[in-house]
Amino acid sequence: MSPRRVLVLSVVLVILCGVHNSNQCAKKDHGDADHQHNEQIIRSEIPEERSVGEPSVHHEDKDDIQDAESNNLEQTKRLGPEPEEEEEEEEEDLDVEELAEGEMEDAEKTAPARYDGAQLWRIHTSNVSNQDVIKLFESQYDGCVWKTKDDFVDVFLEPHRQEEARRALRDFDVPYEVSINDVQNLIDAQHRSREKKPRRDKRQAQASHQLTWDSYHDLGDIYGYMRTLSQKYPTICKLVNIGKSVEGRGILAMKVAGPKSQRVIWVDGGIHAREWISVASVMYVMDQFIRYWAKQPAHIRSATWYFLPVMNPDGYQYSRTTDRLWRKNRRNFGSCHGVDLNRNFDFKWTGVGASNNPCDMTYRGPKGLSEPESRSVAQFMEKLPRKPVAYITLHSYGQYVLYPWGFASAIPSDHRLLKQTGLDAAESAKLIDGALYTVAPAFQPFGAAAGGSDDWAKGHLKVKYVYTIELRDKGRYGFLLPTNLIRVTCREALTMIGVISKASLNVQQ
Ligand SMILES: [Zn+2]
Repeated sequence: MSPRRVLVLSVVLVILCGVHNSNQCAKKDHGDADHQHNEQIIRSEIPEERSVGEPSVHHEDKDDIQDAESNNLEQTKRLGPEPEEEEEEEEEDLDVEELAEGEMEDAEKTAPARYDGAQLWRIHTSNVSNQDVIKLFESQYDGCVWKTKDDFVDVFLEPHRQEEARRALRDFDVPYEVSINDVQNLIDAQHRSREKKPRRDKRQAQASHQLTWDSYHDLGDIYGYMRTLSQKYPTICKLVNIGKSVEGRGILAMKVAGPKSQRVIWVDGGIHAREWISVASVMYVMDQFIRYWAKQPAHIRSATWYFLPVMNPDGYQYSRTTDRLWRKNRRNFGSCHGVDLNRNFDFKWTGVGASNNPCDMTYRGPKGLSEPESRSVAQFMEKLPRKPVAYITLHSYGQYVLYPWGFASAIPSDHRLLKQTGLDAAESAKLIDGALYTVAPAFQPFGAAAGGSDDWAKGHLKVKYVYTIELRDKGRYGFLLPTNLIRVTCREALTMIGVISKASLNVQQ
């Protein structure tokens, strides 16, 4: 781009950036509230926070695990967030249907959001700054940034803004290509794959105790399958309800441990609602470990695993039923909904990359751990009898293995070790199907973002091996990863988690 054009673009941006524009990037919640107004909303309209209750899981010591080994099903079912509910749950099991349903049955049903003609563009920014492009597209064309990297920005655009945006890029000589020609077509394809097989899926799941990996699944199916596994493999599995979402859904984790299990490894997914592949991948790894526990290498069997496939159950289910591109939780702020749970953890909370506007995609929440979902996870992890040696959180997309820090352009003192293990993990993923995962500190590819669960695990909980893995793809489909790529991506997650598990053997506790 010529110096004159850079100057023109900068002048245009200075003018445009005076215009406030909230960037919610979702169909149902466009809000025009300014920041001051939103502070009032926060004070006056936050529903009274639900009491989440302390996690009331009974952590077994080795002897307890031996008890479980002797098939004592009762022993494995002392679960539940509320102490007074314990007795009932001992008799009845966790009601996973109810936990997946939540407490908002009467909520007004909205028609699913449609994205006909909407496109995803990859704008190449080697000649212009990412920030300039982002500001221009957000303020002028209602663009929604899906992903940024040092040399490109992926922007989602509604059809009626595409022509002007195209003209601007042409005028400023900025190259771009259309990655997704019609977002709704991809969403429809995912729905079709879901409609085709529900009966067969269910029969298969019941008959062979297997969830399928050729479609994405509703929360009810996921929780149902977790219960199936915990019932079928009571000696190594325990279903744990670690808390309650904003809309009253259970937040279900699975503890997987054998008699030799000691050090703790945590794996979660589904913090961001639309990143369905992260949910599928946590389920896949958990399923493989449980069903083939005896065949797992010693470094897997010597760990106590916690799998939390859906940290954001309300958002996930909302993305299944109403808005495929939803990202945040479902906290109601009046004009807008949702807190970005991955900006809500209270280590370096409210720094860069986290918005103070509830209408934004990266809204950090009114305070650190303000949300029941993030708070439940933090409280549960803090109360584990052993501090985890590894914290692995799955997201999409981009194919990255990221290690701290995310809140600033900084790296921890053990960054060499984290990087080397990340490189080993990426190398193992490549062996599956040739996919390349880039290893970097989290701030590097996307810019710093404060309040992430990974920084919290490293900075607050002092977990040694902390990774955010951004799963497939590199941007061809983005969040709308086709169902035929689920299985291969899950296998990549499995092998990478194995590499991190093996490395974590060296942690002295
Ligand atoms: Zn994410």
